[in-house]
Amino acid sequence: MNRKHRKTRIICTLGPATESDEVLEALILAGANVFRLNMSHAKHEWVRDICPRIRAISDRLSSHTSILCDLQGPSIRTGDLEEDLDLKKGDMVEFRKKDAEATLPLSTTVNYAGLMGDVSEGDRLIVDNGGFLMLIKEVNASNILCEVKTGGMMGSRRHINLPGVRLNLPALTKKDRLDLALACDVGCDFIAGSFVRDADHVRQLRAAMVEGGGHAQIVSKIEDQEAVRNIDDIISESDVVMVARGDLGIEVNIEELPIIQRKIVKRCLRLGTRVIVATHMLESMIANPLPTRAEVTDVSNAVFEEADSVMLSGETSVGKYPVECVEILDRIATRIERSGGMGYGAEALLRTERQKTVRAAVQLADSIPDARILVFTRRGFMPVQTALLRPHSPIYAFAPEAVICRQVNLGRGVTARRIDFSEEPGDTLATAVEMLKNEHDIDAGTPLVVISDMTQKGAVVDSVLLVHA
Ligand code: PGA
Ligand code: MN
Repeated sequence: MNRKHRKTRIICTLGPATESDEVLEALILAGANVFRLNMSHAKHEWVRDICPRIRAISDRLSSHTSILCDLQGPSIRTGDLEEDLDLKKGDMVEFRKKDAEATLPLSTTVNYAGLMGDVSEGDRLIVDNGGFLMLIKEVNASNILCEVKTGGMMGSRRHINLPGVRLNLPALTKKDRLDLALACDVGCDFIAGSFVRDADHVRQLRAAMVEGGGHAQIVSKIEDQEAVRNIDDIISESDVVMVARGDLGIEVNIEELPIIQRKIVKRCLRLGTRVIVATHMLESMIANPLPTRAEVTDVSNAVFEEADSVMLSGETSVGKYPVECVEILDRIATRIERSGGMGYGAEALLRTERQKTVRAAVQLADSIPDARILVFTRRGFMPVQTALLRPHSPIYAFAPEAVICRQVNLGRGVTARRIDFSEEPGDTLATAVEMLKNEHDIDAGTPLVVISDMTQKGAVVDSVLLVHA
């Protein structure tokens, strides 16, 4: 199975709307490249059930569909309520420690005992993804009193954002560690950390993943002001960065969001890390079969910026039209890619000779009409580097290990194929060319720029070749 013409990768969050074998297959056939499991909602037995099914379907379709496990991270939530709170503008509402008695009629607990030590009078407290805005009026040892600015009916276990507040939460919660162990156990290809605030947080994630015996690459979700301040350090430490616009759009002034998105995509391309633009891309399609004009334009902007990937959340986890969402993303991306992008790839910092070798190959391929780039790789480094330079030519990556295929799969323009490497590199190349011809990706005579880091007589040698199929 191959999707020849689209470079932008599509990530779908799975949920009740998409958990059956039939829908998983339909999503892959419509163009989904990565499936995301959201540990804020997913139960362990659900993960253990769905992962092998994804692998089986992906094997049958030869699609190398990757699995991304997204950890909840240090998220603050309101407690369990007997009845929803009816909050009106001007009301005073209390957020108290778990073991404290309520001192106001409108009161809820919070799951983070350190909150009172981190916030100050005058800070804004936002509940339920922007639904409720409160102003903190009083901070005591075991409660916080807030004035309601925007009210409504507030339910149990709602997510709390505190824009601009430095929270002393651990990078990895107990739940994250358990979820991460599961992700390693089921062999997830990517593990995403939520509310990553600095490079040390990324290192902790990676160390815990290695300890758990996993092979996953690390995705850092940029969700607050502190992460934006530390962006270069986080990018340098991560395999992939996600512009997590859901939380980020609450934690920063909303008009800053498009500027921050563009800046992060640009910095990722400069520093050599893949980047995902996420959340609310086709939000209205949770309920409607067609996107709004504004959504189409938003998706297009991410494609113009040449992000590696766009991501669907509620659209595919609980929405009514999950497969249609992927079809729409496929159509938009395919069309916009043909019209040209921003060219940020040209600004990539090339620090090593290997990176310069890759650039030479990309320049060669892009100077020859209808050329393809073939990259032979063991660990996946060269295909990712190739993708980061944003060549016009399609990139085909060949690796002996399926996990490497699934990881390079999340790189703009990369199609991966598993292949056994022969003793003789020429034989491997011939097999790869045969594969592409059989699948009608190339014709006899198609110019091929070949990048390889295959071992020759025991030493790793990088080479660039121009051949014809
Ligand atoms: P979430 O992260 O969906 O796990 O909250 C993405 C975002 O905040 O955009
Ligand atoms: Mn988030």
